[in-house]
Amino acid sequence: NSFDEECDYLFKAILIGDSAVGKSNLLSRFAKDEFSLDSKPTIGVEFAYRNIRVGGKLIKAQIWDTAGQERFRAITSSYYRGALGALLVYDVTRRSTFESLRRWLKELREFGSPEMVVVLVGNKSDLEGSRVVKLEDGRSLAQLEQVSFMETSAKDNLNVEDAFIEMITRIYEIT
Ligand code: GDP
Repeated sequence: NSFDEECDYLFKAILIGDSAVGKSNLLSRFAKDEFSLDSKPTIGVEFAYRNIRVGGKLIKAQIWDTAGQERFRAITSSYYRGALGALLVYDVTRRSTFESLRRWLKELREFGSPEMVVVLVGNKSDLEGSRVVKLEDGRSLAQLEQVSFMETSAKDNLNVEDAFIEMITRIYEIT
């Protein structure tokens, strides 16, 4: 349609990270400004679009959600194919999701393109009382891996927009 023709770029980006860290809710918050207390359906890859303007260019971001594949450690290489960016998400209230990041980073390097933009995201920052992963832990890992970092709350809509925009802007900068 005419809108697509007006778009300067189409970017594919993906969400990765352990089950229940909040990937789906981050995406629905960003794409539709919605949050759900329920967990999502288990099977199938889904994606959402959002158009944003960066540096005078109109970018159509196509963002993919695993929709549960990670539960079975069965994210296929096709999920990574063509992706220029990834939001790598953990849950600040569950240490195991932070410890999994090493494995996710390895998989990103294996299947992702070498120049892929990665933004590390510590989600559920609204649950301060249950926090077990310190802000500093996320920051150090990000520094070590040379990726951007942000804590977010999909529930309270904190930094969600910033995390996606950071990823999309950085993709635009390297494209
Ligand atoms: P996914 O499996 O990584 O896609 O995670 P979901 O988006 O399905 O979220 C898993 C659960 O965490 C759901 O019950 C959500 O309501 C909840 N959740 C997601 N993001 C947040 C958040 O920022 N804060 C809080 N308190 N709960 C969240």
